[in-house]
Amino acid sequence: MASTPSPEVTLPINELDILWITAGLSCDGDSVSVTAAQRPAIEDVVMGGIPGLPKVNLHNPVLAKAVGEEFLAPFRRAWRGENQLPYVLVVEGSIPNEEVKDEGYWAAWGEDPETRQPILTTTWIDKLAPRAVAVVAIGTCAAYGGIHAMAGNPTGCMGLADYLGWDYRSAAGLPIVNVPGCPVQPDNFMETVTYLLYELAGMAPIIPLDAKLRPTWLFGKTAHEGCDRAGYYEQSDFALEYGSPKCLVKLGCWGPVVNCNVPKRGWMDGIGGCPNVGGICMTCTMPGFPDKFMPFMDEPPGSSLSVAGGYAYGRVIRNLRSLTNMSGNQEPKWRHRGPALTTGYQDAA
Ligand code: SF4
Ligand code: SF4
Repeated sequence: MASTPSPEVTLPINELDILWITAGLSCDGDSVSVTAAQRPAIEDVVMGGIPGLPKVNLHNPVLAKAVGEEFLAPFRRAWRGENQLPYVLVVEGSIPNEEVKDEGYWAAWGEDPETRQPILTTTWIDKLAPRAVAVVAIGTCAAYGGIHAMAGNPTGCMGLADYLGWDYRSAAGLPIVNVPGCPVQPDNFMETVTYLLYELAGMAPIIPLDAKLRPTWLFGKTAHEGCDRAGYYEQSDFALEYGSPKCLVKLGCWGPVVNCNVPKRGWMDGIGGCPNVGGICMTCTMPGFPDKFMPFMDEPPGSSLSVAGGYAYGRVIRNLRSLTNMSGNQEPKWRHRGPALTTGYQDAA
């Protein structure tokens, strides 16, 4: 979809709506995850507890008191261009390709008051994205397609940037902001939203994003670089079964080639963080997740060489990891718009 190159909104913004659509293909896990945020807590943002932020009116179906038409009212107003306030659009879940079939639909939200037919999730996005002052894809499904976009899927689903175009610009001139994770790490999301709110309030510079539209300060390092177990790795001391405190690479940890701060940051209030607490890094923040990293639970290719090489071959290892990281940062080629389904799906009927 063509993007609008020049900003149509004047900053600063003093009050706005957050219109949060959870009707992509997903489990609502990102909405649930965000309730655990502490830095800042979503309550602090919504209750005006953070100095300098615009006043925020949050509209999320998992977290709202309103239901039915009362809940949908601000979305319908925004659709018609009648919203009194500017709005940030948050999209949760991968975007199905509604063009790859002759009948039915993959995902919808609410119904058309005249026809009583369901309104497609893609139609909501088409209507709301052009006038949004910022668009945020929460979680890996919305950012890159995620689990639903695996090889062989029938929906042809994709990430929001695949759908809107990687060159999309909001009414305030901002690109889509991706905050991946399956689910999203709660503080990563709230910190990103807070940054955007300060930017829209005219108090922060343009948000720094990498080529995959992730905030650079959150996704610029690998999981391995922040892992509590990295000391074991460097002395080639590896866990051979779960329950060990040692490095998990031989059990299938991909941490050395994955852009993620979760081992460093923890999950909730600094506690947890996949490998730190005994779970392998399964690459959930990556555009190539899951296909480029399967099968899981196997020793990642190249890790034996990496492990054997140790410090003496550090530079070679870093270069090899860099190649794997570049590959893992590319989405599979079947995530795209258009009537052709190229996932490899085969109808069993
Ligand atoms: S457990 Fe994973 S992330 Fe941690 S040191 Fe080992 S390979 Fe790196
Ligand atoms: S450490 Fe790995 S599995 Fe855990 S959140 Fe980060 S990318 Fe996902």
